[in-house]
Amino acid sequence: MRKTKCLGLIVIVGILLNILIGQLTYQQVKQHLAEKLILDVNQLGQKLDAQLNRYSKLPEVLANDPRLLAPLTNENHNRADTNQLLQQWAKTLGADTIYLIDHSGTTLAASNWQQANSFVGQNYAFRPYFRQAINGQLGQYFALGASSDKRGYYFSAPVYNQGEIDGVITIKVDLSLVEDIWQYEEIEYAIADHNGVIFYSSEDNWLYRSLIPLNEELKTQIINSRQYGQAALLPLTQYRNLTEFSNQEISDLTSPSQEQATSYVVASHDMVQAGWSIYGFSPIQAAYQYVGQAIMMFSVFYALLCLALTSWWQTLNTQKALAQLNDQLEQLVIKRTKNLLETNQQLRETIEQYERSQAELKQTQSELVQAAKLAMLGELSASINHEINQPLAAMRTYAENSRKLLQKERYDSVAGNIEEIIKLNQMVADIIARFKVFARKANDNRERTVAADSIRAAIGLLRNRLIKQGVILRMDELPNDIMINADAVQFEQVIINLLSNAIQALANAHQPQIGIKLDSGDSLVKIHIWDNGPGLDDGQKKRIFTPFFTTKSDGLGLGLTISRRIIDSFSGSLTVTDHTGGGAEFIITLPRCTEELE
Ligand code: ADP
Repeated sequence: MRKTKCLGLIVIVGILLNILIGQLTYQQVKQHLAEKLILDVNQLGQKLDAQLNRYSKLPEVLANDPRLLAPLTNENHNRADTNQLLQQWAKTLGADTIYLIDHSGTTLAASNWQQANSFVGQNYAFRPYFRQAINGQLGQYFALGASSDKRGYYFSAPVYNQGEIDGVITIKVDLSLVEDIWQYEEIEYAIADHNGVIFYSSEDNWLYRSLIPLNEELKTQIINSRQYGQAALLPLTQYRNLTEFSNQEISDLTSPSQEQATSYVVASHDMVQAGWSIYGFSPIQAAYQYVGQAIMMFSVFYALLCLALTSWWQTLNTQKALAQLNDQLEQLVIKRTKNLLETNQQLRETIEQYERSQAELKQTQSELVQAAKLAMLGELSASINHEINQPLAAMRTYAENSRKLLQKERYDSVAGNIEEIIKLNQMVADIIARFKVFARKANDNRERTVAADSIRAAIGLLRNRLIKQGVILRMDELPNDIMINADAVQFEQVIINLLSNAIQALANAHQPQIGIKLDSGDSLVKIHIWDNGPGLDDGQKKRIFTPFFTTKSDGLGLGLTISRRIIDSFSGSLTVTDHTGGGAEFIITLPRCTEELE
C-alpha cells in the first residue's frame, strides 16, 4: 500500500516536473528562435539594402551618357548601336535588363533586344517607375515583368536633353539575388511592400498574397497597376493591420494549400529606402521538437534518478536490517560465549578434580607398592629363611659332627663332612645370588650381544641337572649372526630361569625333552624354549607372570616375573603358549640388533 502511494507520488511529481521543463524549454527555444530570426532578418535586410543601393545610383549615371540622346531625338537613328550599348552595360553591371524608354513610354532600345520577349516596342507608361522618372524623379519599383512575367526591381532615371526630359533609362534587377543571400533553409522569409503584399518569398504559396486582408479599393488599385499581374491578393492572416501583425510574437499563417494554419515565430525588418519589409518566419514546430527532446531526456534522467534513489533507499534499509541482525548475532555470541566460559570453568574444575584424583591415586598406588614391597620383603625373608635355614642347619649338623669326629680323631670322616659343608655353602651362595636380581639397580648395561652365546652359556651351567634328570635337549645348531641389544648376564639369567623351570616341570616326565630354537626375521629375534612336561592350564597361563605365583612347595613365584621385567627392559616380550604335543612353550621376542652400537 505504502509502495503504491510512493509510486503514485513519484509519477505525479514526474509529470509536474515534465510540464515545467516543457514550458521552460518552449520559452527558451522560442526566445532563441526569435532572437536568431531578428538577427537573420536584419542581416538579410542590410545585405539587400547594400545590393539595391549599388543599383539605385546607376540609372542616373547612365542617363548622362550622350549616346542615349540620338535614339530619343532622331527617329531614324540606327537603334542597333543603342541596343548593343545597353546589352554591354547590362552584362558589365550584372543587371537583368537595361532599357531606354521615350517620352511616351515606348521602349526604344533594350539589352534583351535579341530575345523573344524583348522589351523593345513595349509601352511602360503605366508603370510608376516611368511616371516618376518622366516627372524628374528617381524611380524605384518592384513588379512582375509585364512581358517577361519575371519578378524584378526597377530603377529609373530621366534622360535630359538640354534641360528637357526626353526619355527614361531603366535598370531591372533580378531579385533572385535574395536567394543567394538567404541561406537558412529552416527559416522561411517573405518580402512585402508597404501594403503587406508579398512579392518575394522562400515559400511559393505565399507569393502575391497579402499578410493582412486588403480593402477592396486598394486591391482594385493594385490589380489595375498590374504590379503583381492578375494575382487575387488573398490574405494569409486575419490581422487588422500590419502593425498588429508585426507585434505578434507568434502568428498563424494559413496558406491556400494548407487546411490548418501553421504557427510561426515572426520577425521583421523595414527597408526604409525601398519601402519594403522583410519578414522571417521560423516554424514553432521546431520548438515542439526541442520540447519533446527535453521532456524525453528529463524523463530518462528522472527515471534514473528515481531508480538510484530507490536502490539507495533499499541499500540503506538493508544495511539497517543487517546492523540489527549483527546486533542480534553479537548478543547471541555474547550469550554463547558466556555459556562457553561457564562450561570451560566447569571443565577446568573437572580437570582439577581429575588431577587431584590422579594425584590421590598415585599416592595410593605408591602406598600400595610400598605395601606390596613390604609384603614382598616379608615373602623374601620367609623364602630366604626357608631356603637358607635348611642348608644352614645341615652345615651346623656337619660342623658339630666334625667336632665330635675330631675328638675321636676320625679325620677322614671330618674331611667328608667339610666337603659337604663346602657344598652347602655353595648352595647358600646360589640361593642368595637368585635374590640379587631384586637388589640390582635398573642399570642399563645393554650391549650388542650374540644371542646364541648366552643360550650356550645357560645350557652349560645347567648341563649337570639335565644329564642327571635324563632330559633330551632338542636343539639345532644355533646361528651366531643373530645379535640382540641386551645385558648379556641378565639375558642369560632369563634363559637359565626358563630352562630350570622346564627341568623342574619334567621331574616326573616320561622321556623328558626340552627344545630350544633361535631364529630371526629382518627386525625381530625369537627364542622358543619348550618342554613336554605337564604344561599349563588357562588359569595358570594368566597368572604365572604375576609376582609370587608358584605351584611349587619351595617356589618363590618370582622367576617369571623378573624374567618378563628383564625382557621388557630390552624392549621385547616374554609370552607363554601350549607346545604342540603337550607341555609349555615360552617365547622371547626381541628387536634384532643390526648395527654396531656406539
Ligand atoms: P617358581 O619357579 O619359584 O615357582 P616361577 O615364576 O619361575 O616361580 O614359576 C611360576 C610357576 O609357573 C611355577 O610354580 C610353575 O607352576 C609354573 N611353571 C613355570 N614353568 C613351567 C613349565 N615349563 N611347565 C609347567 N609349569 C611351569
